[in-house]
Amino acid sequence: MALKIDPHVHSALSDGTDVPRELLKKARVAGLDVIGAVDHDTFEHWEPFRAAYAELTAEGARPPAIILGTEISTSVDRCPIHLLNYLPNPHRGSVRAILKNAHHDRLERMRRMVTKINQDYPLTWSDVQAEITGLTPGRPHIGDALVRKGYFQTRSEAFKKVLNPGSPYYVSRPIVDSFAVLEAIRADGGVPVLAHPFSLTRSKRRLDPAIVRKLAQNGLRGIEVNHREHDAPARQLAAGLARELDLFVSGASDYHGAGKPNQLGENTMPEASLRQILAAGASPLLGELPPS
Ligand code: AMP
Ligand code: FE
Ligand code: FE
Ligand code: ZN
Repeated sequence: MALKIDPHVHSALSDGTDVPRELLKKARVAGLDVIGAVDHDTFEHWEPFRAAYAELTAEGARPPAIILGTEISTSVDRCPIHLLNYLPNPHRGSVRAILKNAHHDRLERMRRMVTKINQDYPLTWSDVQAEITGLTPGRPHIGDALVRKGYFQTRSEAFKKVLNPGSPYYVSRPIVDSFAVLEAIRADGGVPVLAHPFSLTRSKRRLDPAIVRKLAQNGLRGIEVNHREHDAPARQLAAGLARELDLFVSGASDYHGAGKPNQLGENTMPEASLRQILAAGASPLLGELPPS
């Protein structure tokens, strides 16, 4: 049977809500053979995932194998671009160096947003701090605080009303250039994949395909096609670019636990693409693939 692979999920170490152990158990229940653990802008989830995998294996729970990675927020001409960095050598440090200020910049930006939001929706910094579960604090945690205060029902509603880039409460943060990040991913031996390039829920403009072509010329290896934030034209565009540029195709849930409606395994990656990641990445798969 074909492997069931969901290569893009988030844990509570960034802005998901499940700790690695819970996430692995749910992934097992969802019938997944492999997950990609790609918390945002950090490597801090790698060790907890290794530990949870070892623990569950020792208990005989047969967790899915794990492609370790990071999803990195980047931009070109202020257009947001998320790059997935699969199986880099974590000791090489080029991406780490780029992310060095990310934590500090995120906190500064959040404090400024909270000050603005507080004028209309009473909210303190400690309300938000109480929601931060990992090392990548972000707007989702402000959203969780607003939900806990009773202003909104869900994180998604908080985004729609308060946290989105068009809102008067929005403050931007410094974002690294996509091409600099791509170069760093390659220097670390990681496999770079473009996440949800044509999502319209994140920015008003659809990413210019010319930028995808330029990323491909600079070593991009794969592209997400099947993702819930891609409508049919977005999927067609991404699939066409994959063929044109010889990129492997991916699909994923972008699961965030209770933070988003996305369900584990709702979109998956073809096994051939996984084989390319495993062949090209500088780090091994964590765990074993089931015998085929
Ligand atoms: P930040 O890193 O603070 O800019 O926040 C970006 C994160 O917010 C992304 O990683 C998403 O997981 C989350 N996000 C973005 N848009 C939405 C939305 N409409 N609903 C829920 N979460 C969202
Ligand atoms: Fe996220
Ligand atoms: Fe993303
Ligand atoms: Zn993601």
